[in-house]
Amino acid sequence: MTDLLAQVKEAGVVGAGGAGFPTHIKLNARVEYVLVNGAECEPLLRANQQMLAKYAQELWQALRLVVEHTGARKGIIALKIKYEQARAALESCQPREGVYGIHLLDDFYPAGDEHVLVHEVTGRIVPEGGIPLKVGCVVINVETLLNVLGAVRGVPVTHKFVTVTGAVRKPLTASVPLGTRISALLELAGGSLIEKYGIIEGGPMMGKAVAAGDVVTKTTGGVIVLPVHHPLLQHKNESVRLNILRARAACCQCRICTDLCPRYLLGHGLEPHKIMRALGAGSLTKELTQAFLCSECGACDKFACPMGLSPRQLNSMLKQEMGKAGIRNPHGRNELKPEASRGWHKIPSNRLIARLGLEAYNVPAPLLEIEVNPQEVILPLQQHLGQPARPVVQAGEKVDRGQLIGTIPDHNAVGANLHASIRGIVESVTSSITIKRL
Ligand code: SF4
Ligand code: SF4
Repeated sequence: MTDLLAQVKEAGVVGAGGAGFPTHIKLNARVEYVLVNGAECEPLLRANQQMLAKYAQELWQALRLVVEHTGARKGIIALKIKYEQARAALESCQPREGVYGIHLLDDFYPAGDEHVLVHEVTGRIVPEGGIPLKVGCVVINVETLLNVLGAVRGVPVTHKFVTVTGAVRKPLTASVPLGTRISALLELAGGSLIEKYGIIEGGPMMGKAVAAGDVVTKTTGGVIVLPVHHPLLQHKNESVRLNILRARAACCQCRICTDLCPRYLLGHGLEPHKIMRALGAGSLTKELTQAFLCSECGACDKFACPMGLSPRQLNSMLKQEMGKAGIRNPHGRNELKPEASRGWHKIPSNRLIARLGLEAYNVPAPLLEIEVNPQEVILPLQQHLGQPARPVVQAGEKVDRGQLIGTIPDHNAVGANLHASIRGIVESVTSSITIKRL
């Protein structure tokens, strides 16, 4: 393992913008392109675009490290054309070598999907069921890249940039200690504007409903407060069984879900209307395996379907059920051509925000330089893909901020180290480590 990978592994860096894949494994590759994903395409979230503006110099520095490590011939920061401040900051300190570039993306959803981003920047199409590495690319999120630089400087991952927005008094973005309760973030944002509310962690499209007692992890991108009866929250709490019944009763096979599906538009063999037809008919056809190709972006259910059905949720269920039954993805075509309609079937962000009923909440959430000092943090041992971290501290032990408290259980396992995010005393060690501030 190279020095860079060892430092990244030691610091517990994982993908901050997705499922939390360990970065030391992702970067263990030789590629042609390193693409920095600054699209931040989930409505209302504001962290990445402000980090691009504020840490432009550091990001170029970090990108240089990754480009040199992977032997890439291009290192490109991709961001939306509307992030004017970020663009100006990046251009002001862009390295002169032709290796480094900026790619401006149109304002559509989901510009930040890895497959979409790779195609937008390079013109290449990741094969069905594949990852960007298959076409010589590695895609890294903005905050993850900053954490790589931190790792090289000996600073482990202890904090997360989070946007707190929606029905709160002062929407904001801040770097907060891992393990901070979401209720503390709401206080930070001046509290909720409404009495009866629900909370979405992540973006409105791909995030999940959470409780105020849940905590910030290495993958928390945002916290959105909405009235409890907001359709988005209702949607996220719907049962799969109800959705199947509704698919049977109400899917009119208009195929709008397919026509707007970003993976279908890239040429993948994913046609959600056919999955809905098979599910509605209760037939076990090969078409159901198309669900393996679904990214769960939510374009079909939250924007496309005129009947309010959710191919996304059913695809997610199908993937889980087929996985349990030992069925593997049979789709792997790699000679793909985008659909001719792709150009005009991209979903404009402003139309998406209107469709989601979020126009009132589409406001700035300024990145504040504030020190957030929770009295207690709860750090789940599993906040990344792979095996949970193995605790290396016991209840009653004093820990310093940045101290290693959980390690990858087996040297070769997929996993990530975990560090204390505040100075304090370990109160308990279960599937999480709770630390009380000293
Ligand atoms: S969630 Fe829907 S639109 Fe998105 S990839 Fe899956 S089927 Fe396509
Ligand atoms: S958009 Fe809705 S109604 Fe139309 S085919 Fe897809 S799931 Fe069925």
